[in-house]
Amino acid sequence: MPKLLLGCIADDFTGATDLANNLVRAGMRVVQAIGVPATPLDAEVDAVVVALKSRTIAPAEAIEQSLAALRWLQAQGAQQIYFKYCSTFDSTPQGNIGPVTEALMEALQCDFTIATPAFPDNKRTVFKGYLFAGDVLLNESGMQNHPLTPMTDPNLVRVLQAQCKRKVGLIDHAVVARGAAAITERIEQLKGEGVAIAIVDAVSNDDLLRLGPAIAKMPLVTAGSGVAIGLPANFGLAPSSQASALPAAGGLRAVVSGSCSLATNRQVLDFIQRGGAALAIDPLRIAAGVDVVAETLAWATPLVDKQPVLVYSTAEAGAVKSVQGRLGIEEAGAMIERTVAAIARGLVERGVRRLVVAGGETSGACVQALGIAQMQIGPQIDPGVPWCHAGTDVAAGTSVHIALKSGNFGGDDFFTKAFTVLA
Ligand code: ADP
Repeated sequence: MPKLLLGCIADDFTGATDLANNLVRAGMRVVQAIGVPATPLDAEVDAVVVALKSRTIAPAEAIEQSLAALRWLQAQGAQQIYFKYCSTFDSTPQGNIGPVTEALMEALQCDFTIATPAFPDNKRTVFKGYLFAGDVLLNESGMQNHPLTPMTDPNLVRVLQAQCKRKVGLIDHAVVARGAAAITERIEQLKGEGVAIAIVDAVSNDDLLRLGPAIAKMPLVTAGSGVAIGLPANFGLAPSSQASALPAAGGLRAVVSGSCSLATNRQVLDFIQRGGAALAIDPLRIAAGVDVVAETLAWATPLVDKQPVLVYSTAEAGAVKSVQGRLGIEEAGAMIERTVAAIARGLVERGVRRLVVAGGETSGACVQALGIAQMQIGPQIDPGVPWCHAGTDVAAGTSVHIALKSGNFGGDDFFTKAFTVLA
């Protein structure tokens, strides 16, 4: 059985891909599993990221799922466990960052761990325990108004302490700047003071790289995806093109988009302006009972043999609001996700083997519709979005190259550039 170096548990789907992407770039071969796998690992990889959907569910349920993921990762021989959450520390007053961290510590008999969402590449920095998003504190960044996890306190020691029974402390930037030995010394000092979890300051990738060696022996690390850049070196791994190597790509090309984010709207426009073959899906026609899936596949079939096709429900804010007003926000969302996912499956049935999906929720729906359980992580297209390779249940032995782009990621030319990267 292949031996796993790093076992990761991510509290949401696109966050898992973000972490996997950072690990690959730092030299690890990584598989992302959708939920806890039912069977043992059968790929030669250095790390597995188990993607859960546990960010905002009840703490007890989040703990149960996370412990199930831990047990599977331990059974694969994982030498270190990484609990990944959002770089804006998305949590409710009850958790789930604190409760899951403590449950994992207990299960691993781990008396000390770190917590740092710092991800300088994405402008998330932590200084004196305060989290900044861009140039402002977390609670001025818009996150104070998040519908599910409003973050009104930027002081992470306070935020995490309110979710934990164990004592939370701080390894501040003055220590981190002095390097791994100083961090290790500070950890011993904190342990002596009864601290079990330390928020770690980091304002640059250099800080994260200094942190790496100091946490090499920790059974559990908890962080955003940033800390990942300093870990592969602890296992003797360096960045290499080998880490992101995927099987050769071939087959037909398509993009499906259910994202209405600003960046995706620009990407759809860019694809059309370049003369790409594109078809818009009208939510009101789906709601009226028209078989939009069959109609779309009939449109795509003769075209996709010759060129990439784009199918999109992407629309601007005003149009989205109007559809939501008529159909209901959740009903419209779920209906469109189902439709886009069925089209994605139909396209793969017709020979598409290179598929770009735009939209976080839309990606979840497409992965499910294609029966994908695991994805091997490949080369990055744009920051945070790698190509992946995955088996599907469309037909025996059918695998696809798939890129899952969450809303605001990617440059304007993403839908064109993606296929160039794979070539
Ligand atoms: P993003 O990553 O940009 O947030 P998601 O796929 O996560 O994209 O979310 C977009 C949501 O909007 C999905 O639920 C999708 O079904 C829904 N949606 C897509 N197109 C439309 C539309 N034209 N009108 C209303 N809702 C839409």
